[in-house]
Amino acid sequence: MIVDTARIERLLKEAVVTEEGVAEILQRASEGRGLVLEDAAALISIEDPRLRKMLCKTAGEVKEKLFGKRVVLFAPLYLSNYCTNGCLYCGFRSSNRTVSRKALTPEEVVAEARTLVAMGFKRVLLVTGEDPRWDLGYIIDCVQAVYRNTGMRIVHVNAPPMDVPSLKKLKAAGVGVFQVFQETYHRPTYGRVHPSGKKKDYDFRIEVMDRAMEAGFGDVGIGSLLGLYDFRFDSLATLAHSFHLYEKFGAQAHTVSIPRLRPAAHFAMNDVPYPVSDEDFKKIVAVYRLTVPTAGVVVSTRESAGLRNSLIRSGATQLSAASRTSPGGYSKDGTDTLEQFSTNDHRTLVEVMKSIVDEGGLPSLCTTCYRVGRTGREFTEKTKAGEMEKFCQANAILTLKEYLADCPVNGTKESMEKALSKAIGEIKDPAIKKALAEKLKALDAGERDLYF
Ligand code: SAM
Ligand code: SF4
Repeated sequence: MIVDTARIERLLKEAVVTEEGVAEILQRASEGRGLVLEDAAALISIEDPRLRKMLCKTAGEVKEKLFGKRVVLFAPLYLSNYCTNGCLYCGFRSSNRTVSRKALTPEEVVAEARTLVAMGFKRVLLVTGEDPRWDLGYIIDCVQAVYRNTGMRIVHVNAPPMDVPSLKKLKAAGVGVFQVFQETYHRPTYGRVHPSGKKKDYDFRIEVMDRAMEAGFGDVGIGSLLGLYDFRFDSLATLAHSFHLYEKFGAQAHTVSIPRLRPAAHFAMNDVPYPVSDEDFKKIVAVYRLTVPTAGVVVSTRESAGLRNSLIRSGATQLSAASRTSPGGYSKDGTDTLEQFSTNDHRTLVEVMKSIVDEGGLPSLCTTCYRVGRTGREFTEKTKAGEMEKFCQANAILTLKEYLADCPVNGTKESMEKALSKAIGEIKDPAIKKALAEKLKALDAGERDLYF
């Protein structure tokens, strides 16, 4: 069994929250070596605002200890919104006649990726619906077209679950992270909200990360769609899923995403069944950070600018920016009849970068680990041992420096350069400091794509 849901229900029922108990758990969590599910059950049950504050503060500290101040930025790129599934919450579901359908050609995908590269992005997440007409071969063509024809440095994929041979081909095409969200780990709810199509099959979906790891993906991304069921249950189940991967393959989930339900075109649900407040959202980010500290915690533009800014200091490590949720969305303006759902943070990349700086963080466009093979088990172990912080900070500096030289800065140059100098001053390791100074000089001389 991948996730023991009966155990999770029991842990939540038995969870006791006391000030002393929480303080003791946070004390252990502050070492950055993770927690067990019993601890996470207690933390996710905190209601007292004072304890929530302590939780978020510790999460921020652990994030900085393991990854430095950096916050990584990426953009999603929607390939196709054709879909044969019936997910009640999604604008792309097959029965939705109000959404226009489009599958980008690989050439159109290249045009979209070039638009993103011109904005400054180096990392893209390809997203697609499920339709046999736009299958694995199509996704691979798009991945390869992006690598061949744009300056995008890493391509991740969020696509329907597949079998091992297909996943092997996807990996061989150079995909970094393979991402699939379970949506909800609560089987009865899963059945209700996925009434038709291949996605009906709960087991085929939950088992996909085992198949991905068997196929050679060291880095996989998981998550649950908040709002479908009790967030306490689904958050713990997501963590249990990551623990399962660690026990079986030695690598925690590389990323844990926190998508929260947004109204989609002709939403086929009466309402969000289990609404999640912003305060609870922050709590989830912090509990993920402390329980599986090596995982990237990804917050998308489904969330508001204000909430995303506050998460920079309480455990989030990755933000998407400037996102469009329709195929071809970056190349067009105005009303969009192709989108999956409407986003909630419409800032440009540079505006998000500036807000990261304002919050005391360091925007990063780094893609190094996937490209040098620091993935899977090795990434989990190095991060746990505290060995990633120096690389993350130095690579954030290099990519920010490159961004400032090549991309639109729209009046933010001064504050970004100040953040850059401060971050350089904070590098402690003498060998890294020296090598970084050389690489920065090389960037000034016109070299690009330098990293540790
Ligand atoms: N079709 C693939 C699948 O379902 O796994 C991948 C792409 S799907 C567009 C990516 C994710 O979007 C889904 O896994 C779901 O969590 C999320 N999503 C769908 N509808 C949403 C909505 N109305 N609000 C927020 N997120 C949504
Ligand atoms: Fe299709 Fe994915 Fe949307 Fe479901 S969530 S309708 S599978 S695109």
